[in-house]
Amino acid sequence: MVFRAEGNIVWCNKLAQHLLGFHWPEDSGQPISNLIRTPDFIKYLNKKDFSEPLEMRSPLNVERMLELRIVPYTEGEHLMVVRDVTRLKQLEQMRKDFVANVSHELRTPLTVVTGYLEMLDSDSLPPPAMWQKAQTTMLEQCKRMDSLVNQLLSLSRIEGARRQDNDKPVNVPQLLTYIQTEAQSLNQDKGHELIFNVDASLDIKGAEDELRSAFSNLVFNAIHYTKPGGKIVVDWQLKNNQAAFSVTDNGDGIAAEHINRLTERFYRVDKARSRTTGGSGLGLAITKHVLTRHDSRLDISSKLGQGSTFAFAFGSDKVVRIANKTEKTEKTAKS
Ligand code: ADP
Repeated sequence: MVFRAEGNIVWCNKLAQHLLGFHWPEDSGQPISNLIRTPDFIKYLNKKDFSEPLEMRSPLNVERMLELRIVPYTEGEHLMVVRDVTRLKQLEQMRKDFVANVSHELRTPLTVVTGYLEMLDSDSLPPPAMWQKAQTTMLEQCKRMDSLVNQLLSLSRIEGARRQDNDKPVNVPQLLTYIQTEAQSLNQDKGHELIFNVDASLDIKGAEDELRSAFSNLVFNAIHYTKPGGKIVVDWQLKNNQAAFSVTDNGDGIAAEHINRLTERFYRVDKARSRTTGGSGLGLAITKHVLTRHDSRLDISSKLGQGSTFAFAFGSDKVVRIANKTEKTEKTAKS
């Protein structure tokens, strides 16, 4: 929009009407300070120093952030350019939150390790039993940091991966066999009943490493968040021409208000509990990211105290049927 040095509007385009709520031609000649009454803006205008842009909330919608730049136009006139920077601001905020979260997550284990190491520095060393405990705790905390850094790396790898690397044939049944073995060893203390219903002929096109973390995050979470002796069922089947994966547990369950937030980075329902499981709150964020890259999305249904189902499906264009493997499974089933 263009306004005269004394503040009257000379011209504005359609977007200015949309962003600032101007009416044209009715507002022609009106003082701009009558139309935009935001105190920050009035102050900015009166100061007459336009070397820096002004950021302010939209007078029409407080959720929207606008950036205003004023430059000299023809003699006695100024041109004001307004930009909607809401998305930019959100991204900036996300980046700040992310750095703050990572620092916070690393600070806790570092404080513990530093604390114990400082004990070594004093004249009287702690008794062996105490030192043993210190060593175990320090190791746990170091593993925690290691796992956090690995998850952060895998997140950044997925974010940086190219789309075209996403359609290699992946032997999902074999992948699930590996995950089953890992799950069994993770499950030793808890002794859950682990059931894997896997269609051995069902492969898909995708990125193997990424899919492995998506599948395993859900299976390992079910183990972590289900009390000893619980039941976990993993399904990999063709349903409505789609390759469908689900993990159902009869564990802790999740209250409805948390469900939509679970895939946010660092979001944990019970920070104290998931800390004991070594959880960082990044697993489901990674899973969501992987699924988006494979044109799928995570579906979560859960009841507090009863259990949860985490599921997703891949479209028919991604499905690969391996005929030989079907025969083999049928034979095995018959024999
Ligand atoms: P974490 O590393 O903390 O497990 P995730 O991103 O994998 O992080 O999960 C986020 C949160 O979702 C967990 O902290 C936990 O509170 C909840 N959650 C995930 N899976 C389950 C499950 N099967 N049952 C109950 N709660 C779960």
